[in-house]
Amino acid sequence: LPRVLSGIQPTAGSFHLGNYLGALRQWVALQETAEAFYCVVDLHAITMDWDPEELRQNTLTAAAQLLALGVDPARSTLFVQSHVPEHVQLSWVMECLARFGEASRMTQFKDKSQREGTAGSSVGLFTYPVLQAADILVYQADEVPVGEDQRQHLELTRDLAIRFNGRFGETLTVPSARIPEGAAKVLDLQSPEKKMSKSLPPAGCVLLLDDPKVTAKKIRSAVTDTGREVVADPEGKPGVTNLLTIHSALSGRGIGELEEHFAGRGYGDLKKELAEVVADFVTPVRQRTQELLDDPAELQRTLGQGAARAREVAARTVADVYEKVGFLPLA
Ligand code: ATP
Ligand code: MG
Repeated sequence: LPRVLSGIQPTAGSFHLGNYLGALRQWVALQETAEAFYCVVDLHAITMDWDPEELRQNTLTAAAQLLALGVDPARSTLFVQSHVPEHVQLSWVMECLARFGEASRMTQFKDKSQREGTAGSSVGLFTYPVLQAADILVYQADEVPVGEDQRQHLELTRDLAIRFNGRFGETLTVPSARIPEGAAKVLDLQSPEKKMSKSLPPAGCVLLLDDPKVTAKKIRSAVTDTGREVVADPEGKPGVTNLLTIHSALSGRGIGELEEHFAGRGYGDLKKELAEVVADFVTPVRQRTQELLDDPAELQRTLGQGAARAREVAARTVADVYEKVGFLPLA
């Protein structure tokens, strides 16, 4: 079986439609055909300003949502990144292999450092793609299901694995990104030139745990384009195309079929129907998430078992890597 690894940050307290359509939907599907390792990457959540109590609660909420969406701990290894210290142990070696220049080219750092400026951003925000490489390589993963925005980080991961193997001999599996065909980049409803993101203002971001009334309002206020025809046109009508893409991904109906369905009707009809499609999808997920959160002790037991399984695999990679780079074994 191919091995799959992916992670998601516990920021914002809820995942959004971009996370689900770009990544999490594949997580659930891949459990059938792969040996899957899925983690809540809390270490990545402290690269920018954070609140400790919120982080703890958001980590539990993230795990509950993953289970509610269909991640099955009997088939997949579900864990919290900070419970597996091997990620950080491998990360240091990767930091010493990565070049300052290549890390400087990561466009996500350029985007995310805009608020604090480069000089005011944390070193962790700068090196986060290298920790992410370690997250993947420590499990010898073959495939990484992610959204389009992670393509560049996956290239860095591959480069680091190839560099390590070239210098120290075949040790690390070189992984490939698994980016979905449709909805690989869901756009922000208010700024459809940007990807939907937890770090943008909430008005443009549809959270899975939002009350469907709030969601309907966000969709109603979505920026649409000039003209009135409901047709897909990524260049000329990014806003409308985004709404059609979300509809299609959730309803399973093709874009062409939806264009026919909305022929002679306006943007208002599209928005109204999309709000219903989203509500149908999130309602059982919200309910199940709440049930799981009502028993945090059980949730933490599940995560503890996942961490133990993850460590078995991760520890083997770290031992191998530490030996190859010349660290003296502990006698
Ligand atoms: P942030 O903006 O703070 O980085 P995020 O919304 O990107 O948060 P992450 O935890 O970084 O969330 O990403 C989790 C997964 O969701 C990744 O695989 C990422 O590629 C995917 N993803 C995030 N945003 C989108 C989007 N708008 N469309 C498709 N996939 C997305
Ligand atoms: Mg992100």
